[in-house]
Amino acid sequence: MLTDSFGRTATDLRVSLTDRCNLRCAYCMPAEGLDWLPKPEVLTDDEVVRLVGLAVTRLGISEVRFTGGEPLLRRGLTAIVRRVAALSPRPEISLTTNGIGLDRLAAPLRAAGLDRINVSLDTLSEETFVKLARRDRLGDVLAGLAAAATAGLTPVKVNAVLMRGINDHEAAPLLRFCLDHGYQLRFIEQMPLDAQHGWRREEMVTADEILAELKLGGEFALTPDDPTGRGSAPAETFLIDGGPQRVGIIGSVTRPFCAACDRVRLTADGQLRNCLFARVENDLRTPLRAGASDDELEAIWLRCIAAKLPGHGINDAGFLQPARPMSAIGG
Ligand code: SF4
Repeated sequence: MLTDSFGRTATDLRVSLTDRCNLRCAYCMPAEGLDWLPKPEVLTDDEVVRLVGLAVTRLGISEVRFTGGEPLLRRGLTAIVRRVAALSPRPEISLTTNGIGLDRLAAPLRAAGLDRINVSLDTLSEETFVKLARRDRLGDVLAGLAAAATAGLTPVKVNAVLMRGINDHEAAPLLRFCLDHGYQLRFIEQMPLDAQHGWRREEMVTADEILAELKLGGEFALTPDDPTGRGSAPAETFLIDGGPQRVGIIGSVTRPFCAACDRVRLTADGQLRNCLFARVENDLRTPLRAGASDDELEAIWLRCIAAKLPGHGINDAGFLQPARPMSAIGG
């Protein structure tokens, strides 16, 4: 088992399948994009499936989430999902996407074995979408959401990041939209993981502010959900008007949940990260390509988890943002 020195066991593997993306979200990367990982450094489909297989069959991983960059850009995505779904024990398989292309891929991914999906949606305004993502693709995202629901990837979860002075007034409209469509909305505090290192705490919209914004005008009566039901889930959930519908808040910065963390990450270029904010990575790609055995690869996983820190340290004096940006780590 992947148990760290604080007694937390990693059972949730986040796999970034690419660092490339077809959006340029302001809280993630500069408008001109980034220098993408050279193709030879990116794990092949067989390498991804071998490492995920090892983690599931030998290391107690029971959940696998595919992320990016934008995972829908990965040509072999559907085949990878199908091969991971064939593993025994079968892990729960989920995906985090910006939704572009999901209208075409939702049904094939579902048929391949995808269980759950999270789609990023920060605004309902085309103008604000262009301002935030520097692309005019809101319609594609909304079509992707509808296709995910039709394909049975329910409950479809929506992730929203609010930026001060840009879309922070849209908390209630986003919630109303999701309730009307049966989507489960979660707001995520903006984290210091952008490639341009432009994150400023005072510009971040906090969990408290999001809750206040949602309660404004009395449209939604929010009550805390049963905390015992949270487990290691990042989202703190609130019942809306007594339930059963809920809204989630992921207060990574102001309400950290590291004490119950069960996550470990694999990057598209085969580096293991024991935390989203890890400043040290463990290389799996080089030994893998050099013919390492499963025992040798397993030893690297165990070493990585053994070195896991108690938390992200964002609120500690001297916090340093990791060199690798969010777009090359994945959610
Ligand atoms: S910041 Fe790191 S330790 Fe905290 S919950 Fe996220 S991955 Fe886990």
